[in-house]
Amino acid sequence: MKHRNDEMLLFIAIGDAVAAATEFVKANEHPRLIENVLRLDGYYQHPTYLRLKPSMYTDDTQMSIAVAEVLNKHHKYNPFLPCIPDFADAWTRVFHRDPRDGYARGFQAFLESHKTGKAFLRDIRPDSSKNGACMRVVPVGVLSSTDLVLDIAAIQAETTHNTPIGIFSAQAVALMSHFALYRDEPFDRLQDFLEIHLPDSIFLHHMRPHRRWDAPVRSPATNTVHAVFDLLTHYSTLSEVLRGAIQFGGDTDSVAAIALGIASARMPNDLPQVLFDKLENGPYGRDYLKTLGKQLMDAHT
Ligand SMILES: [Mg+2]
Repeated sequence: MKHRNDEMLLFIAIGDAVAAATEFVKANEHPRLIENVLRLDGYYQHPTYLRLKPSMYTDDTQMSIAVAEVLNKHHKYNPFLPCIPDFADAWTRVFHRDPRDGYARGFQAFLESHKTGKAFLRDIRPDSSKNGACMRVVPVGVLSSTDLVLDIAAIQAETTHNTPIGIFSAQAVALMSHFALYRDEPFDRLQDFLEIHLPDSIFLHHMRPHRRWDAPVRSPATNTVHAVFDLLTHYSTLSEVLRGAIQFGGDTDSVAAIALGIASARMPNDLPQVLFDKLENGPYGRDYLKTLGKQLMDAHT
């Protein structure tokens, strides 16, 4: 691994927690809030999701933690690859040990009523084309080969997003993460890399990633992939990437979580210290994220 990133999960959480304040907030309805959040001088309250408090991360980080925990068990000396039940177990485990708001309403209710991976798999209808399979997949980039990255990205997607777009979005994000960790080339070679490893993807072709993204990010998940690609290829510091994710609007926390998790392997960290100091630090907060990130890199380098 060329660009080991022990703080991958920490940066996912910071992007998520900062941009959670603006998720699907319309700039013309809450101009002061957007202005405040863009200063990056602290964590702010979302105007309507009142149970999610400033400095708390959301589903994007909690499910990325689940993926990292699965990958830490299936490290390079363990010949068994993670399979669908491993991920279903992880989704239910991380939620029930640390229940929180921030999930899509229907999926949160599903998690609340399903305590085990077995029950989860019995009842889930994995037919979504939204960005849930790609928002949590950045840790998969640590796997040592692109074949493994593609396989595991797809397997974790199949638990909830067993659709062409769901699987494509997860593979594309995991590949971008792998590129950031393992390659020497700058992010402006990212499109070539995706085209080499997803040669048959009509979604990649339809996305036309060379075109600038400049709209609120909504479903399907191809839009999230395009927005993240845009941030990685047009900005050069972490604060620029984070502000860019907020300025797009729409699903700002997912875009920020993915983009910071990937960019932090390469770009200089110019984020204000207050974002590190104030991030939630309960049993699965800042210190846990640092430890888990280090374990993830140790297990795969
Ligand atoms: Mg979220």
